[in-house]
Amino acid sequence: MVSEDAHVTGEGKGGQATAAGRAAPAPGTPRTRRGRPWAPEDEGPGPHRWRPARFMVIVAHPDDADFGPAATAARWIDQGSVGWLVCCTSGDAGGEDPDLDPLELARVREAEQRRAAEIVGYAGVTFLHQPDGALANDLPLREMLVREIRTFRPDAVLTHDPEVIVYRDGGINHTDHRTAGAAAIDAVYPAARNPMAFPWLARSGLAAHRVRRLYLFWPSEPQVRVDVGATLERKVEALRAHASQVHDPAALAERIRAWGEEEGAPAGVAAAEAFRLVVIDRDETAAAPEVPERPAAAR
Ligand SMILES: [Zn+2]
Repeated sequence: MVSEDAHVTGEGKGGQATAAGRAAPAPGTPRTRRGRPWAPEDEGPGPHRWRPARFMVIVAHPDDADFGPAATAARWIDQGSVGWLVCCTSGDAGGEDPDLDPLELARVREAEQRRAAEIVGYAGVTFLHQPDGALANDLPLREMLVREIRTFRPDAVLTHDPEVIVYRDGGINHTDHRTAGAAAIDAVYPAARNPMAFPWLARSGLAAHRVRRLYLFWPSEPQVRVDVGATLERKVEALRAHASQVHDPAALAERIRAWGEEEGAPAGVAAAEAFRLVVIDRDETAAAPEVPERPAAAR
């Protein structure tokens, strides 16, 4: 499934770009209103306009999704998308006290994440209960993620950019973030779409599913920016729900607003979230409805 937004993106600022090097589409494939198949590069420099009907956010810890793509998720949900959140760990090492009970901390953090997910508007949250700080991109984790993907059947998956180890500004990307991102990508492609991967899943009724796009957040090289001017304050509110992690909510709110503004500037909007976009299946290869250039009666 795909939203109608996908079919009008060719009218954006980059709509006149040539389709050099692109193979001719099969007859009857979806087209933009200018008569060409839509492709991501048609967007031009403005904000990203494609929207998945269903999307899944896969992260390492409670709060990652809210520091990450929360405002994009809220925007898409407001526009009619359905979102689901998967946390690989429950953040049981996210404290400063070695005597703290990790299971009690996990319980607190799951409750905080469920509250934040309600604020953003997700249809639900899954916790995979993997160990915080020791997440491994192994077959058991990939099987769990494939199970989630084949159950919810998203058009797009949003996850950490696993290729970032050190950010340009010098910050270090947590090992669990890199691992969760890599495992999510491996689960999307090829495992979720291959019925022979974890074949007991298909045999038990979880049919193969093709996720068509990956949106990698906190990228070192952003490719698209989603306009989140209308939902940035929901992100701030969702982050406040993580009370065990947020010690100065006012300072955090200012930081989130500053980040939003910084990412919005290149797209010409007040606030944005940036992603590296991986289009696995283009719209013309999927069962997207055609948008006619004009009603047949007017021709
Ligand atoms: Zn994290």
